[in-house]
Amino acid sequence: MVAPILRACRKCSRITELDVCPYCNEPTSRDWQGYVIINDYEKSEIAAKMNIRSNGKYALRVR
Ligand SMILES: [Zn+2]
Repeated sequence: MVAPILRACRKCSRITELDVCPYCNEPTSRDWQGYVIINDYEKSEIAAKMNIRSNGKYALRVR
């Protein structure tokens, strides 16, 4: 089993395996650090801080 290379969107920070973010159509980057899982974005302070408006997995820092 080969683990997929995860990438992060430069715009919304969402983590994906795709070269282009499926949510905002921006190119993704392999150079990112840390991630946070948002299960309830309406109640999450991190989501509010990062401007996240849906649940999912997001990189903390994308270069
Ligand atoms: Zn995106």
